[in-house]
Amino acid sequence: MPGWPRGMDAPQVGAVIGCYSAIVNVDREDDRQRAGLCADCRHSRKRLSDRGSVFWCCELSKLDVRFAKYPRLPVRTCIGYAREGTPEIADEVVELYRPVGERELALIRESGWRAFPARLPHQPFFYPVLHKEYATQIARDWNTKDEASGFVGYVLRFRVRQTSLKAYPIRTAGSSNHQEYWIPAAELEKFNENIVGLIEVVSEFRGA
Ligand code: SF4
Repeated sequence: MPGWPRGMDAPQVGAVIGCYSAIVNVDREDDRQRAGLCADCRHSRKRLSDRGSVFWCCELSKLDVRFAKYPRLPVRTCIGYAREGTPEIADEVVELYRPVGERELALIRESGWRAFPARLPHQPFFYPVLHKEYATQIARDWNTKDEASGFVGYVLRFRVRQTSLKAYPIRTAGSSNHQEYWIPAAELEKFNENIVGLIEVVSEFRGA
């Protein structure tokens, strides 16, 4: 066989493939030990530094402040984990709005602008809305007249992973742009985990 060193038996093709496969598996297993979930997450990028050390960079950190650019390894649990080969649609996000009063805004601020507070016992659903105009109407015309809202209305904007909304039909209350989701109170924590980025205040209205 041309090119094979003199004095050594040329390996059979199957043996060569088997050997390569073993090396790949060893590398992958080694990556799993060192990086945990990042080893086969499609959001991770494996990098080699100038000094030859290997590290993993999380691409989700560009979209969502909850993810570190260089995660502390090994990562054992992660809400952003998506195994290599799963469809990209898992990352699509939807922009939603929510009108709130002073008290709810304070609790959202306490969460670092990352989560909506748990519902009260008499509030069975959380109602994010699809259109800014609808949220504005509620904040301006209802929250500013409501004592429990502190006579102030805020319009909040946030983004959530599309896949997390699949279980909830869009409800229309009145006119066609009065569209909203009804998220059961018991599922709000899970809903919060799917918020991408920070919740932001886009408008503020004060009662007379
Ligand atoms: S999303 Fe999680 S598992 Fe995936 S690369 Fe980022 S930190 Fe690692």
